[in-house]
Amino acid sequence: MPMHIETLSLISAIQSLALAAMLWAGTQGGPGAARDALKLRAGALAVESGGWAMLAAQAWLHPAQLLLGGNALNLLAHGMAVVALRKLLGAPLRWRSALAIGVIGWLGVGWFGVVQPDYRLRVVWGSIAIVALIWLRMEALLQGGLRRATRARAILLMLHTLSALLLLWRNGQLWFDLNPPADVIQPDTVNYLYVLLSGMQPLFLSIAFLLLYNETLQRELYQLARVDALTGVQNRLALNETATRLLAQANRSGRPLGVLMIDADHFKSVNDRFGHGGGDKVLLALVGSIRTTLRAANVVGRVGGEEFVVLAPDTTLEQALVLAERIRCTVESTPLLVDGHVLQLTVSIGVAAARPGERDVGALLHRADAALYGAKRAGRNRVMAADLHLAGSVPA
Ligand code: GH3
Ligand code: MG
Ligand code: MG
Repeated sequence: MPMHIETLSLISAIQSLALAAMLWAGTQGGPGAARDALKLRAGALAVESGGWAMLAAQAWLHPAQLLLGGNALNLLAHGMAVVALRKLLGAPLRWRSALAIGVIGWLGVGWFGVVQPDYRLRVVWGSIAIVALIWLRMEALLQGGLRRATRARAILLMLHTLSALLLLWRNGQLWFDLNPPADVIQPDTVNYLYVLLSGMQPLFLSIAFLLLYNETLQRELYQLARVDALTGVQNRLALNETATRLLAQANRSGRPLGVLMIDADHFKSVNDRFGHGGGDKVLLALVGSIRTTLRAANVVGRVGGEEFVVLAPDTTLEQALVLAERIRCTVESTPLLVDGHVLQLTVSIGVAAARPGERDVGALLHRADAALYGAKRAGRNRVMAADLHLAGSVPA
């Protein structure tokens, strides 16, 4: 089927430029690594559009101009796409590697294009450079393993594999054809198909990039919605999800699960003395004290203003009481320096443990809360268990 390389290239140039403008328009609003990545991807498309435009305008260009200029833009676009994707994935950017590959690729293409003209070697050289740049993207996409790749990652991996296969096919055609074309602008079926399929790539790759961008934002939102902004520990939503998961695990394995409900004593007076900002600093210090006392498997979450929950897998009620007492002691014996004043904070802790076969997280947390209430009523700065015969109250 006869086609025009110039027409195909012009379509790709317009399409890449339009995609660049649309992606750029999507980057409006605030900073963020994901948005920077999208900006860079838009830039790569604009540069790629320039490469296609040169191929479309080849009649007005000197062959060496087309060769050196077109390949420079193409390699630059690939390099920018590498950094953009790696940035979006949060992987090391490897921009020096991308730059080195681009420069070596371009010099080789120039050598076999202008100094020692050899079309097949020129194509091989340029293809190796581009495959290396494709690999820099695939390597980042494969981090974490193929099995755990998200949908967008899988789509990008597939598209990049197809890009590499297209280059392999073109080289194979050039080496096994007895009368290979002498230039990419020469009317030839291999050239037509190569230019047609390469020209479609910006569209598919942009859509896949946007899918990944969307996935990244969704994940960021998911995490933001589950972290307490002040202290960085899990918030109520996240803690409920974790508690549900740990309770189900405890039921499956038949292992215990301990729960601690911690509330700062007389916190209103802390705010009265140091203001809300000072109170916030105290809360941060309190979380620090709690964390230093915990094991790696324990989870801490903030479920109220100055109320925290600790989930302790593999921990019986008795062991949870020991843990709670350790936290209480640590807080009591850690004087806090707030705005040059020393503050002696104390906490009351209610402790509960999951009952065999218990499925209701709410009931479990409620028992710990009831125990906390008991500790408060008994005078504060003490630990109390949900089952009263196990009460381990400690005088203030
Ligand atoms: P109790 O010993 O009975 O627990 O006394 P309390 O003063 O701690 O009483 P309560 O738990 O009812 O009050 C909690 C106080 O914590 C009230 C509120 O002003 C303060 N608070 C809640 N959230 C925050 C916060 O994010 N920052 C600061 N600084 N204070 C907070
Ligand atoms: Mg309190
Ligand atoms: Mg409270």
